[in-house]
Amino acid sequence: MNKLSNKQIEKYSRQIIIDSFGISGQKKIISTKVLIIGCGGLGTSAAQYLSMTGIKYLGLVDDDSISLSNLNRQTLFTESDIGRKKVEILEKRLKDISPDSSIHKLKIKLKRSNIEKIFSDYEYILDCSDNFKTRFLINEFCFKMKKILVTASLQNFDLQAAILKSWEETNPCYECFFPSKNKYSQDSCDQMGIVATVAGIGGALQGQLLINNVLNKNKNFSQIILLSCSEIRMRKIIFHKNENCKICK
Ligand SMILES: [Zn+2]
Repeated sequence: MNKLSNKQIEKYSRQIIIDSFGISGQKKIISTKVLIIGCGGLGTSAAQYLSMTGIKYLGLVDDDSISLSNLNRQTLFTESDIGRKKVEILEKRLKDISPDSSIHKLKIKLKRSNIEKIFSDYEYILDCSDNFKTRFLINEFCFKMKKILVTASLQNFDLQAAILKSWEETNPCYECFFPSKNKYSQDSCDQMGIVATVAGIGGALQGQLLINNVLNKNKNFSQIILLSCSEIRMRKIIFHKNENCKICK
């Protein structure tokens, strides 16, 4: 990309001042294209922080409207937004953070029939969905289309997150760790408890994994981060390609 403007240099100065970030890191961030699937607790938090970091080209996929029970965790939505489409309000708030950003709203459900067209414009796919069916679909097409997947999920006080490049030879995919044939994989997350702060940390963690990768700080695409927020305890589990995986074997 071209030179940063004076406004951009001032706006992002607290990042640019960091040696390993610098002007070149900021330029990379600005030209990164990110698709966020699901504009709930994870998606709004990730979108907010990525936008503040300087990511301009953002796609938002969600067909839901804002309800009162969303407001304990979905940053950027307020009571006056109830009943409005999530992508409409999120676009407005992201434009407030960064008026020159390019936001692509998709008020649709992600399906096998539309996913390839939607994914084609982006390098990074943030899975902020709330059900296994969508997660498996996203994983399958990230593998097929060589997209970097940043996934996360929440339950009560716990969260898990990973960044995956499953098409590269020895790297696992999401299904290597969570096979879709397992019984738990049929569960819906709709009725699970979610604590506001845990959702915020989860989305911010997805943003951090993405930024680390843009800045070439990430060398490990074979680990799941497990964070127990009630105990403030973090573990990393290394996992390998599953030879029986139906997606990436
Ligand atoms: Zn796999």
